[in-house]
Amino acid sequence: MQKLAGICYLSEMRSALVRYHEIALKRGNRAYFVEHLKKNISTALRGLGLKEIRNASSRLLLNFNHDVPAVEVTARLAGVFGIANFSLVERTDNDMAALGDHVLQALQGQSFDSFRIEARRVDKRFPLTSNDINRELGALVQRHSGARVDLTRPELTVSVEILPSSAFVSLGRAPGPGGLPVGASGRLVSLISGGIDSPVASYRMMKRGCRLIYVHFHSSPFLDRSSQEKAKTLVDMLTRYQFHSRLYLVPFGEIQRSIVAAVLRPLRVVIYRRMMLRIASIIAAKERARALVTGESLAQVASQTLPNIAVIEEAARLPVLRPLVGMDKQEIIDEAIDIGTFETSVLPDQDCCQLFVPRHPAVKATLRRVREAEAALDLDELAALGADHVEVERFSFPEA
Ligand code: ATP
Ligand code: MG
Repeated sequence: MQKLAGICYLSEMRSALVRYHEIALKRGNRAYFVEHLKKNISTALRGLGLKEIRNASSRLLLNFNHDVPAVEVTARLAGVFGIANFSLVERTDNDMAALGDHVLQALQGQSFDSFRIEARRVDKRFPLTSNDINRELGALVQRHSGARVDLTRPELTVSVEILPSSAFVSLGRAPGPGGLPVGASGRLVSLISGGIDSPVASYRMMKRGCRLIYVHFHSSPFLDRSSQEKAKTLVDMLTRYQFHSRLYLVPFGEIQRSIVAAVLRPLRVVIYRRMMLRIASIIAAKERARALVTGESLAQVASQTLPNIAVIEEAARLPVLRPLVGMDKQEIIDEAIDIGTFETSVLPDQDCCQLFVPRHPAVKATLRRVREAEAALDLDELAALGADHVEVERFSFPEA
């Protein structure tokens, strides 16, 4: 037996039970979300011998062609949004004799001093209640192993689930990432900078069921390619949650040069940002995305004051979602560490927003002053210049 992240694996397991939480709260359109979840699970498990996925009493039963490659399956399922938790299971008939045999078999060769049985009688036609099952199987295991029952901190938890057609035995549950299945909530364009915040914002929106198209603005050849390389690495990491990604790399340096020629320093950052939203809106229309996402957090930096957010947003043609708006920097950093993007995000780079801007940009831009400054620019032509010269990179997970 192997033990990993609180879950024990038996060698002859050919199935897994996946449980969802928020999807179960949906009424009329639960089937829609479940279909997305099934499709995403089968994509995530590509190449691992998955035979079929069946609906089983508000759970999904995954059957494999051979013994489940436990470590890899666990790692992949841990990244599928919509999954609350899952277990690798052994299937048995749903009668007590068969269950007792399977539980004892599952425990063969184990050494443990304490245990508990955690039964769930989903099929209420089963003659014993969950408590009865716990007591009966508990007494059986106690007789055979000599271990004591410990309901609060057992060394081993044996789970038993009684569904209408079968029962399932497993040793522990592994957590899924929660949320809703990617694709179920529609598409967004995510502005990804290479910094700490935007990858976390992207993760949060995928967790709400959105599929993201990524856009990164860079200033090469005026600056080096470091921010692009970081954006690519970050999108590659985030692709594990949505399986396919496209990253639009937009050359922004010439556009910045035009802005610099026409606009005084304090307003440049706000005007860069407005131009980014215009270009992202064009890409969103092409990709049939319904909103934009940024990693902005209220008052974190000068461009994210309430007046500046309002003025910047005015240039977007779609709603701008800001999943981090109420988080402080430490909370965002903690989440970046959890999802594994932090180390890449803090590598030094040359970000396009550093180009030709003052140390203290305006914190209270007004739409009137910004429009006056923009009057000297051909906004449509500049936006088209960016949108027409993009490079697109594609990413897949798991790799073919
Ligand atoms: P981050 O850590 O995500 O870079 P930040 O705290 O550095 O955020 P800003 O530089 O003000 O904040 O950027 C705010 C948001 O604008 C970013 O989270 C991102 O969504 C977007 N953004 C900024 N620069 C770029 C860029 N070069 N390409 C794409 N999006 C960008
Ligand atoms: Mg940044």
